Amino acid sequence: MTLQGKHALITGGGTGIGLAIAQALAAEGAIVTITGRRQDVLDAVAGDGITGMAMDVRDEADVCARIAQAVDARGPVQICVANAGIAEGRAVHKTTLEFWRNMMATNLDGAFLTIRECLGSMRQTEWGRVLTIASIAGVRGLPGAACYTASKHGLIGLTRALSEDYVGKPYTFNAICPAYVDTPIITRNTDSIAQRTGLDTDAARDMMVNMNRHKRLIAPEEIAATALWLCGPGAQSVNGQTIEIAGGQI
Ligand code: NAP
Repeated sequence: MTLQGKHALITGGGTGIGLAIAQALAAEGAIVTITGRRQDVLDAVAGDGITGMAMDVRDEADVCARIAQAVDARGPVQICVANAGIAEGRAVHKTTLEFWRNMMATNLDGAFLTIRECLGSMRQTEWGRVLTIASIAGVRGLPGAACYTASKHGLIGLTRALSEDYVGKPYTFNAICPAYVDTPIITRNTDSIAQRTGLDTDAARDMMVNMNRHKRLIAPEEIAATALWLCGPGAQSVNGQTIEIAGGQI
């Protein structure tokens, strides 16, 4: 129980990678708040130290009010996992400003607002771990996905800058950068690739499997194991890093 009593807030924690991280942290004794837009999805996985709270990361007033509510109910947030995100490939010449803005609002503004609102708690308790769930698209260009790539590069910039702002203090800021992980995002991408290319869904899924260096999808629990390590004892000097979980070099 290395995280006994620590309040962890995980955006997008009702599904996929966020849920695996929530369950791993709760198993180590953390008091976990998970957020997402759909209360029913959150309620379905709540219990065993995990509480669901609807919150749209694109909405500043909602993020401020909800995080304050979580702090009132469960204490200062000391572990913040900015995980909520959307992923969709689109050629730049077909990308509308609306598409661009929504991706940035979710993947980048959402992380900024969440981390900003959790920093007060961390500064008050003088202990904090911030994890951002970026992507390999944060450290290299992903073909056909310029908007997603730009949002994840921005997220890594934010993480690195924060690690410099607080260097030498009892907080760490790290970005986890997965390749393709077996979550609902992959299912949606598979459907979209199949629709665009005329491939069947198995062939579309194989395309993503083959893009991972070890030729298999990564399990969400593999990402959670890294998150747990970064929050636990022994990782206090790991700061400002981008940790690629990709089955090989990318
Ligand atoms: P996922 O299951 O679709 O998770 C995304 C989560 O974000 C959902 O729980 C969703 O909940 C939440 N979300 C989306 N928009 C939101 C908003 N406006 N406000 C609040 N919550 C919002 O897919 P995932 O793969 O676990 O993705 C988690 C993160 O990992 C994302 O940032 C993604 O970019 C990153 N990632 C995934 C992969 C992969 O291959 N799966 C690889 C690299 C990085 P609601 O829909 O209920 O709001």
